[in-house]
Amino acid sequence: MSLLRVPVQNGVQEADSPIKKVTKRSRQILDSDDDEAPVVKEQVAAKGQGDKEAPSKTEKVKGQTDYDPSRPGYHPIDHACWKQAIPMSFPRLRNIETLSNLLRSVLLLSPDDLLCCVYLCLNQLGPAYLGMELGVGETVLMKAVAQATGRQLDKIKAEAQEKGDLGLVAESSRSNQRMMFQPASLTAGGVFRKLKEIASMSGNSAMNKKIDIIKGLFVACRFSEARYIVRSLAGKLRIGLAEQSVLSALSQAVCLTPPGQGFPPAVIDAGKGMSAESRRAWIEEKSLILKQTYCEMPNYDVLIPVLLKEGIDQLPNHCKLTPGVPLRPMLAHPTKGVGEVMKKFDEAAFTCEYKYDGERAQIHILESGEVRIFSRNQEDNTSKYPDIISRIPKVKKDSVVSCVLDSEAVAWDREKKQIQPFQVLTTRKRKDVDASEIKVQVCVYAFDLLYLNGESLVRQPLCRRRALLRESFSEVEGEFVFARSIDSDNTDTIAEFLEQSVRDSCEGLMVKTLEKDATYEIAKRSHNWLKLKKDYLEGVGDTVDLCVIGAYLGKGKRTGTYGGFLLACYDDENEEFQSVCKIGTGFKDEDLEQHYKFLKDHILPKPRAYYRFDQSAEPDVWLDAVQVWEVKCADLSLSPVYKAAMGMVDPEKGISLRFPRFLRIRDDKKPEDATTGAQIADLYKKQQQIQNQGEKADPEDYY
Ligand code: AMP
Repeated sequence: MSLLRVPVQNGVQEADSPIKKVTKRSRQILDSDDDEAPVVKEQVAAKGQGDKEAPSKTEKVKGQTDYDPSRPGYHPIDHACWKQAIPMSFPRLRNIETLSNLLRSVLLLSPDDLLCCVYLCLNQLGPAYLGMELGVGETVLMKAVAQATGRQLDKIKAEAQEKGDLGLVAESSRSNQRMMFQPASLTAGGVFRKLKEIASMSGNSAMNKKIDIIKGLFVACRFSEARYIVRSLAGKLRIGLAEQSVLSALSQAVCLTPPGQGFPPAVIDAGKGMSAESRRAWIEEKSLILKQTYCEMPNYDVLIPVLLKEGIDQLPNHCKLTPGVPLRPMLAHPTKGVGEVMKKFDEAAFTCEYKYDGERAQIHILESGEVRIFSRNQEDNTSKYPDIISRIPKVKKDSVVSCVLDSEAVAWDREKKQIQPFQVLTTRKRKDVDASEIKVQVCVYAFDLLYLNGESLVRQPLCRRRALLRESFSEVEGEFVFARSIDSDNTDTIAEFLEQSVRDSCEGLMVKTLEKDATYEIAKRSHNWLKLKKDYLEGVGDTVDLCVIGAYLGKGKRTGTYGGFLLACYDDENEEFQSVCKIGTGFKDEDLEQHYKFLKDHILPKPRAYYRFDQSAEPDVWLDAVQVWEVKCADLSLSPVYKAAMGMVDPEKGISLRFPRFLRIRDDKKPEDATTGAQIADLYKKQQQIQNQGEKADPEDYY
């Protein structure tokens, strides 16, 4: 999202005046879906000094409306908008630099607020895997807005419908209010505690109590706070900060301004004097420590106190992989054929495993004997699989006290003794399954061991992890088996194995390094695992996972539902959804009905500011990016209309999918997990390479 700077007319500078007169006011809109939103922050940018000016020790603490953590040469004390030991107020944030600067101030002035600031940025109440929710629906929220502002519920509803954002409604309603006396202003910690209190309430009168708390928050709102409070409560706070950005900002902040220094601090900017290049490399290196640790222990409640007390370097020694806490799963890169795999892995030893088509199951065995199962997204699937849990004592050797297994749970036909398609697995109940009522049986295909008896194995090479896995468990047909594999570097053998995998109802192969560069990589993109899907056998293009952002009204047979959809990839660099194609094929009638029923509740009055599209491909209705679809296409082409990977292959054109066909909904993927712009660019480049090789191309590339 770009920084919008809107110059305000003709002020005259009087730099010497004790009260600086505003010459140019730049307006920065933090959450760019508010084109007409009121000014969030105004900054003085006095010509010739302003931004570049060294912070004066006597400069007053900024007022909240002037606060600008994105200013160059930011000083975490002098440029903060609050003073030391005063609870941090509830300002808004923008990109990594901005957030990192804000966090630097928090680190020095009110380190105890760091944890709640991070959670507020992420709009989370606790670790994601605990799934804590506010339990406040839109209607309740509207009631609270109505009661707090003395307006009619109907009016609020109508206005929210029209503006498409209850946050804006709350903000403008609030300004109508006259207050006898102004309550104390909101603090980050205060807001966070209230949100947690709301989440913890259950039972009969919970709703009224929740409404009371929300009302209390509203009356204390100043500036545009009401807008963000409401969005936060509605779970729609999108300040453009995905988890990776928050982690980057946090590590940058603790690098530049080390925590635990006391006050006044000795080090304000530890990167001072470094070249831009080495500063960036240094921050990136440290950032990887935080990201890696976060992947193994995705819980800020644990990480942040350690970060504050021990510093970033010490994190891995204190926050370790722990059975019971789901870690991020390692992911694989797509490849176009056996030829490409051979080129990529070159001399390295590797193994090929069947790529089973089921659901990822991270199985944790705790020292207490308790077993927990987590999904690809770290959701707790324990109650979905009582059958897997009951078979663990049978397959686990006595030597195993605690461990974390990586596996795929696949639908299994007990009579025919064969794998069933993924679709069969999706018919299984998702929660609180009673073992005696299970109709769809599953077989667990174990492929990795990440933790064993108190020791994390993620830094060990796969050959070691796999040996330990095989030593620690025994196979039971149809219940728990090791992923089928061959360790061969013979192209023909691999090609044969790939075909065999497809005949055995698998999706293709996973090819993994065994010794060198063979650690379990979760924090950075790695090419240690490559996937080789059966689609290549058919000579057709790859499948990609795309987010639905718009729909076209159906005509003829499809009247009354949507007939086509606008799909987008997710660009993780710019944190935006980029249009990539229109899709109208691959849908059964039931699919179209299902999509219509689901998507009509996600209509937006206008596209999100973080959607990139061309007007010529505007859909009839815009949709919130909430669902990911797996789509297959014939090939990719440069396009003046679609915006995917814009600027990556061609300076002006994006990339679009040709002849896309709908395959299935990917419920296990969040919108931000959709295929990225960079991956689309990669696929396009690979396709070009193959085409350029023309007739003489190595036939293996076509597998
Ligand atoms: P994809 O979702 O297409 O990117 O493929 C990666 C997924 O394949 C993983 O998240 C696993 O759920 C699944 N999978 C199936 N078999 C294996 C295997 N042998 N090794 C790793 N992942 C596998």
